[in-house]
Amino acid sequence: MTVKKVDLDWANLPFAYRDTDQNVRYTWKNGRWDEGVLTDSAHIPLHMAATSLHYGQAAFEGLKAFETESGEVVVFRIDENAQRMHDSCKKILMAAPPPEMFVEAVYRVVNANRRFVPPHGSGASLYIRPLVIGTGPKVGVAPTDEYLFVVFATPAGPYFKTGFKPVNLIVEEKVDRAASLGVGDVKVAGNYAAGMRASMGAKARGYTEVLFLDAKEKKYIDESGPANFFAITAEGQYVTPLSPSILPSITNKSLITLADEMGLDPLRRPVHVEEIFSFEEAGCCGTAAVITPIGAITWGDRKVVYGDGVTPQPICTALYERLVAVQMGDAEDKWGWVRKVPGG
Ligand SMILES: *Cc1c(COP(=O)(O)O)cnc(C)c1O
Repeated sequence: MTVKKVDLDWANLPFAYRDTDQNVRYTWKNGRWDEGVLTDSAHIPLHMAATSLHYGQAAFEGLKAFETESGEVVVFRIDENAQRMHDSCKKILMAAPPPEMFVEAVYRVVNANRRFVPPHGSGASLYIRPLVIGTGPKVGVAPTDEYLFVVFATPAGPYFKTGFKPVNLIVEEKVDRAASLGVGDVKVAGNYAAGMRASMGAKARGYTEVLFLDAKEKKYIDESGPANFFAITAEGQYVTPLSPSILPSITNKSLITLADEMGLDPLRRPVHVEEIFSFEEAGCCGTAAVITPIGAITWGDRKVVYGDGVTPQPICTALYERLVAVQMGDAEDKWGWVRKVPGG
């Protein structure tokens, strides 16, 4: 079905919130989820003692819908997001949307906002943001028994303003994003509050983002603020950190599959920060960042530059092109990653 799209400058969309037509909300009360309702309000009435506000009972997801060349709307690896949302909720003792309900909620929102799905080839996508928050009042520290599951969508361009151009990172030694036995491996709100002062400090000094180290030994690379880290070694191997405190990125997982196909012998292992000086290429990856090549990394008073620092390197470029071709339906999807959004 063809839908008349809203009039937007699709090729120059920022990665920013924009109002769309409707969002969907499901309520957990008396031990069960309701049927969910679509609403055109962007606001949530909330009790001032809600656990999400005081004690951080809040988790989110991020995924993208794309328009294919034939005009269908597809989502990328939605089952993985559904499962991760479930894991995030369970870890901080919230009611967890069953994965089937998560998928249904995303489809409802995409269908309600079809005119905001960026056209094929524009480089933009419909960014979908599911979240679960504790809404019931508590004054003592304990999980509540009332939750809200919301899914909204907003058309968005690339996360880093530069798009597919190398970024400039700095190794963060004074701030930890997540403790090794903490909640860094789930997408819960508190992790981002914990990392914000590091990211903002780096930006104020002219860097795009930080690279966090493991909190325990401060020797191994964990990840960047909003994205996982990977590198290509001198031997041509794809390596990405193995750590209990990084968010298991679905993009990274997909790149590992693609890297394997491309003969890059992918490996998850602890990555010592000293290794940045011997890598051939490095990059950040995530739904929002896709692949963002790293042009340079500063660590204390030392700095490494990959290539000329401003041109994307060949393997990052090849991985990027492979991934986006599959996501947008331009290349064969052998793994069942891409799902057509039914209806609409
Ligand atoms: C969401 C997120 C990522 C990327 O995960 P994807 O599943 O690829 O989108 C990486 N790191 C952090 C901290 C994140 O929150």
